[in-house]
Amino acid sequence: MSTSKSAFVFDNTFARSLEGFYIPVDGHQVPNPRMLHINEALATELGLSTDFLCSENSVEILAGKVKPEDTVTLAQAYAGHQFGAFSPSLGDGRAMLLGEIIDINGNRRDLQLKGSGPTPFSRNGDGKAALGPVLREYLISEAMHAFGVPTTRSLAAVTTGENVFRETALTGAVLTRVASSHLRVGTFQFFAARGQGEQVQKLADYAIERHFPKLIDQPDRYLRFLQSVIAKQIDLIASWMSIGFVHGVMNTDNMTISGETIDYGPCAFMDTYRSDAVFSSIDEMGRYAYNMQPLILPWNLARLAECLLPLLNPNDKDAAIEVATTEINAIPQAYEKVWLEKFAAKLGIFHVTEEDKELIQELLEIMEAEKADFTASFRKLSGVLLGDENNFLAQFNTLSSAHEWLETWKARLKTENKAIDDHIKRMDTTNPIYIPRNDLVEEALTAAEVASDLNPFRKLLAVVSKPFDRQSGAERYEVGASADARPYVTYCGT
Ligand code: AMP
Ligand code: MG
Repeated sequence: MSTSKSAFVFDNTFARSLEGFYIPVDGHQVPNPRMLHINEALATELGLSTDFLCSENSVEILAGKVKPEDTVTLAQAYAGHQFGAFSPSLGDGRAMLLGEIIDINGNRRDLQLKGSGPTPFSRNGDGKAALGPVLREYLISEAMHAFGVPTTRSLAAVTTGENVFRETALTGAVLTRVASSHLRVGTFQFFAARGQGEQVQKLADYAIERHFPKLIDQPDRYLRFLQSVIAKQIDLIASWMSIGFVHGVMNTDNMTISGETIDYGPCAFMDTYRSDAVFSSIDEMGRYAYNMQPLILPWNLARLAECLLPLLNPNDKDAAIEVATTEINAIPQAYEKVWLEKFAAKLGIFHVTEEDKELIQELLEIMEAEKADFTASFRKLSGVLLGDENNFLAQFNTLSSAHEWLETWKARLKTENKAIDDHIKRMDTTNPIYIPRNDLVEEALTAAEVASDLNPFRKLLAVVSKPFDRQSGAERYEVGASADARPYVTYCGT
């Protein structure tokens, strides 16, 4: 029997607990909301029936046109360092929190509309979103989830029936984003920058209760809170690196306390491996390049630690700074350990040793020199153990160094005394076959925008939602762009 509900039952712990952290807002009157795509699996997880979500009233709610009953809809306040410069007042300029839902596993999830119209935080923006970026976030966030990487999710994409104006007139759309919360490093910065220590403490208490409830009664809970966020973010960034993901806009307002990936603006997956890959048109200095992400990690978390100083030691600022500094300085080494584990798994290794770092680095260097495809190179490695070296070597222009590397790798695997099948399984559940390749993403978005054809989007979504399983008829989704293809450029304009 289905337990799915035919009503939204929202809770509002954020609104109740954190007065002053938000501004109540309503959506925007849009002419003709239409459901474009609904995430049935996620709806089930949330205990909501898809029939209900696709009803006229629900679609109007998900377009921001109608306010749901019995909830406080709101725009959250936050600040943030954007490309290193501090903006004290950002906030939800194009998003509105509908409320919280307890899912069928008992977890509290935020439902938020992105693109539902202007809020007091909109500054010069229109608060709206265009169809292309909405579908892009949908695709990439759902692929991330399928890879097993913590992320906000996408429940629904609706069109609004009005145009939004960027360089040209574009179809207006709204994304329903689901997150374990929308607390960001920048949420702490908003209050810390205003010297509102009591608010920072309230926020930390709320974040602990929501995300790390085991810490509630701990006397050193604020330090342990900082350590917990650090651990989650280390794992997240190492996961991004392991699948060749470049977030593109790792501002502190886009770094969550939950450890979920948030804000799919100018992000992209690498085809050809380049350690300094940048896709975003506005990231001219490469601040958020692929190989910079692990360096931005401690930088952003240091901003969080700064906000927490008065909580780490209310009486002795120097002592608080020392404690925080110790935590931040420990990040690179802790990160390297997680990175090593994740990449070793990609090579089929179970018991990681320090020397494996060299083995991985060597492969990455060869891949970079040879302009190999990141995803395909790792995926085809398992085939080598079944005697198919050619498929792997086909990723490389010249073969000798890749061939030599293979011999070292095979010798390394032998030291583990495991069955070949175990290594293969480890690799094939770690290295995806399919990623949302840039050319395919663009193709899907263009078909949706220009021809109102959602089929390429749906097909690509279906393929990347099972990224580790080979699917018949999906051959073209496996092929990387050629190394000589035009550089892929992404834009922020959601
Ligand atoms: P982002 O770069 O997506 O992380 O957004 C940074 C800030 O710009 C946030 O405060 C957003 O709410 C705001 N913003 C982005 N796009 C718009 C828009 N179309 N209208 C209003 N605010 C926006
Ligand atoms: Mg953002």
